[in-house]
Amino acid sequence: MGFCLFGNAAIAAKRALDQHGLSRVAVVDFDVHHGNGTQDLLWDEARTLFVGSHQMPLWPGTGDRDETGAHGNVMNLPLSPGTNGAGFRRVWETHGLPALDSLAPELIVISAGFDAHEDDPLAQLALQEVDFAWITEALCDLADTHADGRIVSTLEGGYDLNALAASTAAHVDVLMRRGR
Ligand SMILES: [Zn+2]
Repeated sequence: MGFCLFGNAAIAAKRALDQHGLSRVAVVDFDVHHGNGTQDLLWDEARTLFVGSHQMPLWPGTGDRDETGAHGNVMNLPLSPGTNGAGFRRVWETHGLPALDSLAPELIVISAGFDAHEDDPLAQLALQEVDFAWITEALCDLADTHADGRIVSTLEGGYDLNALAASTAAHVDVLMRRGR
């Protein structure tokens, strides 16, 4: 719908399934905007679980809890404007991470958008670098448990360049420290 030419994360998941013989792939999206393209591309794909948190209401307007995919393979975690790191972590600890654990994915693909940062001008969430580091750690834990450590992360949104740089560094620092 304008920001992305290709659904990179969904393409990666499909490639892993169809060309590399995997049977369960998770796609995780913490960009502040709902991953509507990823959701559409994976809606009928029972071998994937797409879990995303995003501000609601916000462009593109999709991503409600009742959008669950054709096979229960989509989990949307909408966050109210003003949600901070504690609220973000609570939603992921309560819903997102347990669902991913239940899937036992053989690969985790991350749509790593950093526009949920408190300084970002396009949205009203209030995450900080430590929160992006936190979810990166949690996803590394899941990948170690189920996927022999396999994670692919692709950069998505981020419109305050200082916040984007610092958040990306926090994310990559964890990935490197955890041996990705
Ligand atoms: Zn975004």
